[in-house]
Amino acid sequence: MKLNQLKATELKELLKKKEVSSLEIVSSVFKEIKCKDKDMNSFITLIEEDAKKSAEKIDQKIARGEKLGSLAGIPVAIKDNICVKGNFCTCGSKILEIFVSPYDATVVEWLKKEDAVIIGKTNMDEFAMGSSNENSYFGPAKNPYDLKRIPGGSSGGSSACVASDMTILALGSDTGGSVRQPASLCGVVGLKPTYGLVSRYGLVAFASSLDQIGCLTKDVKDCAMLLSVIAGYDRRDSTSINFEKKDYTKFLEDGLKDINIGIPEEYFEKGLDKEVREAVLNGVKMLEKQGLKTFEVSMPHTDRAIATYYVLCTAEVSSNLARYDGAKYGFRPEGESDLASMYERTRSEGFGDEVKRRIILGTYVLSAGYYEAYYAKAQKVRTFIKEDFDQAFKKVDLLITPTSSTTAFKLKEKIDDPLTMYLSDIYTTSANLAGIPAISVPCGKDSKGLPIGLQIMGPPLSEELILRIGYFLERSLSSRSSIPKGA
Ligand code: GLN
Repeated sequence: MKLNQLKATELKELLKKKEVSSLEIVSSVFKEIKCKDKDMNSFITLIEEDAKKSAEKIDQKIARGEKLGSLAGIPVAIKDNICVKGNFCTCGSKILEIFVSPYDATVVEWLKKEDAVIIGKTNMDEFAMGSSNENSYFGPAKNPYDLKRIPGGSSGGSSACVASDMTILALGSDTGGSVRQPASLCGVVGLKPTYGLVSRYGLVAFASSLDQIGCLTKDVKDCAMLLSVIAGYDRRDSTSINFEKKDYTKFLEDGLKDINIGIPEEYFEKGLDKEVREAVLNGVKMLEKQGLKTFEVSMPHTDRAIATYYVLCTAEVSSNLARYDGAKYGFRPEGESDLASMYERTRSEGFGDEVKRRIILGTYVLSAGYYEAYYAKAQKVRTFIKEDFDQAFKKVDLLITPTSSTTAFKLKEKIDDPLTMYLSDIYTTSANLAGIPAISVPCGKDSKGLPIGLQIMGPPLSEELILRIGYFLERSLSSRSSIPKGA
């Protein structure tokens, strides 16, 4: 096996025993990128020189016998809406094509503190708006299982580069499913933490009340390891939860006794692909065999989640994206002498169609005549959705559902039909609306050989528990065994 095909936990052991150097690991990743990324388009920017320099520094630390950080020498790819000092942060948009981050996001700062090696910035839907990565100004990323298919979105570059061994770990962001859905479609693990568990400082805002940075990894143990580094209180994010940092890998092997699982009927109704349903229910069966009890539960407001999400997220978009005016960041067209036309041309030439659609929709739902009818009502429904979860978690410890209703679809299949595209997130947006943690773990393949993901959701701050169940399922299903290494 090549080094880039290993997991972070395996590489950590090899480094400890001095059987490999960090530079060898980092070089193996860049070799893979050079060979594959022309076709895959997972990366927008590579940070090769700096990455190799950091790797050399870590190797010197190892040689001197110095204490190492918990991710020493491990390559990490960062979604291109998370700031890495001195590097481009495009958000997949023309408007930020030339924008260079003046500082590190908290998560990046903490990764560097733990000696991780940042290797590049990954492709994404423009400002993280999308489910297929087709809204990127830099062209779509591809699914490693079939290059004619989408990798999911908006963290499609991050999920695809983990799945195809072009990195060991990656960060994404999840506002309505953008870590879990691409993880599911690319056959990797994707975790969206509890709102407030991971700092959003240095994450370019899309919809601030829903955004969370999350982990994309080859297995659950790597995910727990990465979460242990990025989770924690940060006073620079006013919504950060004040709690002690912990090591999430410690709890993975704790027993599964007395855990009750809920199966929400609304997540298994029409619209769900038959093969996805079977694979997810097969995962549930594995847990039952282990002695876990499963119960049917009802989440009556599930069918309102998409509408609620799209009213609230577009409202926040219209406000958050007002800052791109040509004066402060990035793109500004040449030759405008008056301010109004400079604003107008910056925004009409700098933003793509989906971003414009959401700004217009968001402005509409917040406008004086419609605020009560749309925005205020959506806020109320958001509370009902959260109450569905509160009620369910009185009866059960966790919920299991599919992550996505289908496996990866073909490029261009849904791009002209935004409403169908929005339905890609039918099972994922509720967790963001309720602020709860959710993980997608691979649970099999369909008859075309495309990966299927199973979603585990838990109450706020139940990351330990959802990781533990994910860890058990992964070992029982061992579904990553046939990743197409040649993709
Ligand atoms: N696909 C959803 C959207 O387009 C979710 C995006 C996300 O989580 N960033 O809004």
